Amino acid sequence: MSLIVDTVQNFLPFKRKMTPSGWLSFNAVCCHHNGTSADTRQRGGIMLTQDGVSYHCFNCQFKASWQPGRPLTVKFKKLLKWLGTPDDLITKCTFEALRLKDEITADSYVSPIPTFLDKALPRGAEPILSYLDNPPEELIPILEYLQSRNLYLEDYPFYWTSEEGFTNRLIIPFFYQNRIVGYTARKITEGKPKYISEQQPGYVFNLDRQMQDRPFVIVCEGPVDAIGIDGIAVMSQEVGPQQRSLIDRLQKEVIVVPDRDHEGPKIVEQAIEFGWSVSFPDWPDGVKDINDSIRQHGRLYTLYNILANKEKSALKIQLLAKNWFPKDKQ
Ligand SMILES: [Zn+2]
Repeated sequence: MSLIVDTVQNFLPFKRKMTPSGWLSFNAVCCHHNGTSADTRQRGGIMLTQDGVSYHCFNCQFKASWQPGRPLTVKFKKLLKWLGTPDDLITKCTFEALRLKDEITADSYVSPIPTFLDKALPRGAEPILSYLDNPPEELIPILEYLQSRNLYLEDYPFYWTSEEGFTNRLIIPFFYQNRIVGYTARKITEGKPKYISEQQPGYVFNLDRQMQDRPFVIVCEGPVDAIGIDGIAVMSQEVGPQQRSLIDRLQKEVIVVPDRDHEGPKIVEQAIEFGWSVSFPDWPDGVKDINDSIRQHGRLYTLYNILANKEKSALKIQLLAKNWFPKDKQ
């Protein structure tokens, strides 16, 4: 990693957490410099990769980024200063950026296509489909769970195992270019943890199954929602930069359908920034995500409802978001 990425890393606040999509979030350092009250809800996010640094504040909307081949921007230097980087080190970083710029010109720099490593499923995992003619007793509750969620075995290669540690879990393998690169194993009875997952940073669920003839792609938060609607899932309340580039490469109209049960319209703000559409479906009370809607109204109506309520204008998205998310949680 370069001096610049190292410097940012060394001066990040200690109190921070990593999101599944690879962002580090912490109390933003920018807001009071920009006339906004200080952030106390960890709304600053930063992504550090070989591709550089990307910072975004969802409190005051300050953004700064750097990638190899580019000089440091005024905003990026501000960010370094607000993180507490000494002036002489900022100067060193400025020269380092220029040195790298000579090495690789901005034009020749291409963001690499992400690769995901092969991962093994939990021990003893087997496709559920191959047990159907004579399902063992331990498999019955998993089949019942699938039925209660309106998920069908032909929808997706669901797995299960009778091995200890993963009993009573529906295993959803993560595929990328037909290879298994992770999984999530959802507990179908009471008990914690609800999910045991192996997820690589930047991964987007269900990309392989995006039908060529669909002009749009529906972005959900969770895999169960994505399976029911043939969409994709970012498995987070926000989209990481690598996820964004994987989604944009589909070259389809991107429609984000947020869950309705959380406070953070972060993914909505991102959709506006990325030029994506957002759908706020006409869901009755008690329906908080796509799977709920499918269970009440079926797949076809759910899809119709999503498409009929999509919106691309930033202004309209912001207005609709105000009324759509639960009031007490905003
Ligand atoms: Zn801020």
